[in-house]
Amino acid sequence: MMKKRSIRQSVVVSAALLLALFLLPLAVIAPFRSALFGLETPVDETEGAPFVSGDLDAQTHLKVLNGDTVEEMDLGAYLVGVVRAEMPASFEIEALKAQAVAARTYTLYKMRSGGNHGDSADICTDSTCCQAYLAEDRALENWGKSGRKNEEKIETAVKETDGQAILYAGAPILAVFHSCSAGLTRAAGEVWVNDLPYLQAVTSPEPEDSIPNYFSRVEFTAEEFKTKVLAACEGADLSGGVAGWLKDAVTDSAGSVEKVTVGGVTVKGGTLRSILGLRSACFEWEVQDGKLVFYVTGYGHGVGMSQYGANEMAAEGADYLEILTHYYTGVTVGPYRQG
Ligand SMILES: [Zn+2]
Repeated sequence: MMKKRSIRQSVVVSAALLLALFLLPLAVIAPFRSALFGLETPVDETEGAPFVSGDLDAQTHLKVLNGDTVEEMDLGAYLVGVVRAEMPASFEIEALKAQAVAARTYTLYKMRSGGNHGDSADICTDSTCCQAYLAEDRALENWGKSGRKNEEKIETAVKETDGQAILYAGAPILAVFHSCSAGLTRAAGEVWVNDLPYLQAVTSPEPEDSIPNYFSRVEFTAEEFKTKVLAACEGADLSGGVAGWLKDAVTDSAGSVEKVTVGGVTVKGGTLRSILGLRSACFEWEVQDGKLVFYVTGYGHGVGMSQYGANEMAAEGADYLEILTHYYTGVTVGPYRQG
């Protein structure tokens, strides 16, 4: 009886000692566990810390219509997505800062004026309606190896211009921009219905050799041209010879077509540009072997800041304030809070 109990006792004691033998070292190293075994949350090289907006941008919240869904985000997070989509990340940091301020200003203008989406959203991600927007994961996919570096550069551009907007008479302006001009930007009144004091024609240093497709050439057969024009231009008469279809082009100071007569109907140069899908309204044409051939300079509507021009100015030493006050006439740049 006694013997049995002592055996059982010694088994329990041995088991306890054995357990202690294993647990003791663990207890000693527990506080340093993560350092010893590398148990921190694994770091994915492609994923940085989530973007945190500056104090001012963090105070403005907006509803962004992205496809069918409305996403709520603060102004800074939204602007990082806009700059990712609207300007090459390889551009100079001061050009990216100018782009961030222009995009912020455009957004504030839309919020103040009610925008295009009523109560459902403040702005959308369709570049033909509001401004383009690219989420981080999609941008990183496009950028490949330089992804992290590009993302940091763009986040810096947004953060270092926190809350700053382009102001005219104290209010954010319609800060439109385009890819590249034909050496001179265009006044809003030459392109759209209303003239705006801060959207006037100014010189723009376009590095034409380094801009992809700065000069482009597009040709249409008589039939192709006829189909496109008749679908969009009611009343145009294209019954005669090709050589007589287009005439009386009036060009503005920048060399862009302000208006032109197509089959007897006078249209804005920008309208013919959209009908034919030309890169800009700065075009000339000629008839070659019965085809209409267009020679086009630059890319975009030509109003406001030229992105390639901004990058060229930055490369020559201009900061974002100099770039913005060059392209937008009579403006100031400073912090603005939606009242
Ligand atoms: Zn929109």
